[in-house]
Amino acid sequence: MSEPINLQIRLTERPNGKLSPKHFATSQSEIPPVEDGKLLVRTVLLSLDAANRAWMQGPTYRRAVKPGDVMHGYGLGEVMASGSSAFAAGDIVACETGWQNYSLVDAGEAVKQIDHRPLSHLLSVLGIAGKTAYHGLLGIGQPQPGETVVVSAAAGSVGVYVGQLAQMRGARAVGIAGGREKCDWLTGTLGFDAAIDYKSADMLAELKAHCPKGIDVYFDNVGGPVLEAVLFNMAMGGRVVCCGAVSQYDTGDMASPRGIPGLIVVKRLRMEGFIVLDERHDDQRASADLLAWSTSGKLRVVDTILDGLESAPGGLIGLLAGENMGKWLVQVGADPQGSS
Ligand code: NAP
Repeated sequence: MSEPINLQIRLTERPNGKLSPKHFATSQSEIPPVEDGKLLVRTVLLSLDAANRAWMQGPTYRRAVKPGDVMHGYGLGEVMASGSSAFAAGDIVACETGWQNYSLVDAGEAVKQIDHRPLSHLLSVLGIAGKTAYHGLLGIGQPQPGETVVVSAAAGSVGVYVGQLAQMRGARAVGIAGGREKCDWLTGTLGFDAAIDYKSADMLAELKAHCPKGIDVYFDNVGGPVLEAVLFNMAMGGRVVCCGAVSQYDTGDMASPRGIPGLIVVKRLRMEGFIVLDERHDDQRASADLLAWSTSGKLRVVDTILDGLESAPGGLIGLLAGENMGKWLVQVGADPQGSS
């Protein structure tokens, strides 16, 4: 039997505009031996995130991806060998696997996972996407019964949970997404109260029509012109949860919204940014709630699994172009239990 090899996908150059396949190259390396305090992890599932593109622009809340680096990425893997008493071979961990089959990971940065299937849920509703929606909406946005919550990138991995959680709190959920198909899916399949296509609609008129009393909570995943249109429609005392700025990631043009700070002053708005990793102190409660709601079917999970490490570059390019509905993941290796 041939020895397993470590396939790796590297960033070849820093993109200065739209990401394309030419920005990636495949290479091979030896599988590293385990060291003290480290884990040798075999990647099973890789998370594709809009933020992967932002990391190429420079340092953010974490270090930048530089040309020549194995592409950074968060994933789930099986511990093959452990240099730490806290982990054993066979454990499933979430960690920075990178876009490769095998990685050597600091034990202190790996998080042992509960025994749960499908594994994909650990990276979606029970992972960063679900927790970002939970902490951002419930902790910062704090929607009240009868209020109107608007979320952008509403059909994306975070957005699908924001709308559903808003409704669970008794608020109206209005999604903003690209294209009629996504908007129909948000209202028809996920049960959002309304959806607005930012690519074809007159945003200001549509927001007024669907939010006649103004927007109480805006969960902003995109920034740019969509944020600007929403700011003009905020209700007095509204909250803007600044989660991300995907409209600014895959472009050289940085557009900032007008209306800041004037609208914030006049409407007494609160605008607050957050990074989900800072909310770890409250993760136990978030995990327990998300697990209960997703297993009972109260919260509908939306995952798509792409096949094979080679599909990661095309997957990220497609995600930034808005091809995804819900979370996109890449199956890099087999689940040790044989399911995904
Ligand atoms: P995602 O929504 O699954 O995917 C990105 C979506 O953004 C695409 O499907 C596309 O949908 C939309 N989009 C792309 N270009 C756009 C543009 N110019 N204007 C408006 N929408 C555009 O991504 P995600 O993983 O859920 O992440 C959503 C946001 O949350 C990102 O900004 C990400 O960085 C952020 N985030 C923040 C944290 C945190 O801790 N603060 C954690 C996780 C994620 P359309 O078809 O609708 O355009």
